[in-house]
Amino acid sequence: MHIHECPTCRFPFVATIDPARCPQCGTEVSPPGALAETLLFDKAELADDSVHDGRSQGDKLAANDLSHLVGQDIDVYHIDTLLGRGGMGCVFRAIHRDLHRPCALKILLPGLADEDADYVSRFQNEGRAAAALVHPNVVTIHAIGQATDYHFLEMEFLPGRSLQQAIQAEGRLTPIRATALAARMAEGLGAAHRAEIVHQDLKPDNVLLTHQGIPKIVDFGLAKRVRSRSATALPECLCGTPHFMAPELFQGSPATPASDVYALGVTYYLMLTGEFPFSAPTIPKLMYAITSQSAPSVRARVPELPLEMAECLGVMLDKTPSNRPTDGTMAAQLLNAVLGQVRDVESLLNDAFGGGKPVAWTRSGEQYRLDIALPKGRRQIVYIEPSTHAAAERLLVMSSICCDAEPAYYEHALRLNAEMLHGGLAIKDIDGAKKFVVLDTYPRSTVDAEEVRRSVLEVAHRADAVEQLLTGLDRH
Ligand code: ADP
Ligand code: MG
Repeated sequence: MHIHECPTCRFPFVATIDPARCPQCGTEVSPPGALAETLLFDKAELADDSVHDGRSQGDKLAANDLSHLVGQDIDVYHIDTLLGRGGMGCVFRAIHRDLHRPCALKILLPGLADEDADYVSRFQNEGRAAAALVHPNVVTIHAIGQATDYHFLEMEFLPGRSLQQAIQAEGRLTPIRATALAARMAEGLGAAHRAEIVHQDLKPDNVLLTHQGIPKIVDFGLAKRVRSRSATALPECLCGTPHFMAPELFQGSPATPASDVYALGVTYYLMLTGEFPFSAPTIPKLMYAITSQSAPSVRARVPELPLEMAECLGVMLDKTPSNRPTDGTMAAQLLNAVLGQVRDVESLLNDAFGGGKPVAWTRSGEQYRLDIALPKGRRQIVYIEPSTHAAAERLLVMSSICCDAEPAYYEHALRLNAEMLHGGLAIKDIDGAKKFVVLDTYPRSTVDAEEVRRSVLEVAHRADAVEQLLTGLDRH
């Protein structure tokens, strides 16, 4: 979603699609890049469904541009290039002239400091709190200070791209990668929550990825300063990026670690699907959807998503804050547990069959087909796939076709079945023909690579033995 201003008729409007069309005159408008921007808006604005002037702080302060600082020296810094512009100010790449090292320098828009006398002291207090935070998934603050008119924050410089750019470039991320990234972000949030800092504006735009792919959360605590413009329990001014805001925030509750967990849930949803859980053409409609509707099933959008991940996402996006993981640390525990449970079948197979005795496999959808070489030149195909049975979704099924299930074989087959200690022989309809199949199932959460290796070989041996015994052939 982005706030647009129609270039033809100057009508301001919100749109989720790209390119967007002006509702007044129909002109096509492309967004200037951002998918979702931090907004400041008051309650009267939220109630008004007809005219939306939720212009971003960035737009409101556009006149307060700081790009002229490029090439200049401020304090001990030489300003190099403009890295990004946001609601609070501009972020530059700069060189610390004494230390000769690059850094990222966030310079606050002087206009903001003039507007609100408390703003600077709150900026300094929270800057100090954020500076005390040292965590691999949080950007490190090196210094905070003032030079002439400018208040600045020096941070470690993170080359690389933002998570937002990664999602835009890749459409969506694989479930394992999205979950691993969400777990790291949750750990960063957890460290902040332990220091009693609530981020309040977590979104892919505020997560930078290092070249090694490690996510680091930036923009810590800045939103909080803006919001606490009045120290009352019911803020007059909501702050955040509407798509990422938890339902209770729209109802006047203060932001909490659980509302950061919600924002992480939206970010997780976005990584998995490339789409927001809720979208609407206006902010009041979006608020209604976030507070009153249930999110569309993530598995309808990404059918291959493991159930565990969908469930984890579901609790993070729960409408009731007390039903969510209470803070970043709890969310990290949950996400890490899910990651451990849903072992990527591919990596399991690599562990089981890579290296010493390579077994070739191919994949089609969620099904893996393994070609097993047996003694005396015989071969057997074994399939591995997650169970498609809704109630048994956490199982990994191994199967291998023996031969046609002809009634003449039934008695013999029954006797063979009784001899099997694990799994068994079943009759399965495959492409319209009834076949004897050796089946075995394993819980996906606990099976290890060695067990998979042994079981695959055992299933292959048994299926091949049944085939040989009943038909004397080697067709499967
Ligand atoms: P804002 O409050 O303006 O949104 P952010 O802290 O999110 O401020 O920074 C705006 C943009 O500047 C980011 O999206 C990113 O592109 C860039 N940026 C911020 N911090 C860094 C950093 N430490 N290293 C490199 N780029 C950064
Ligand atoms: Mg930002």
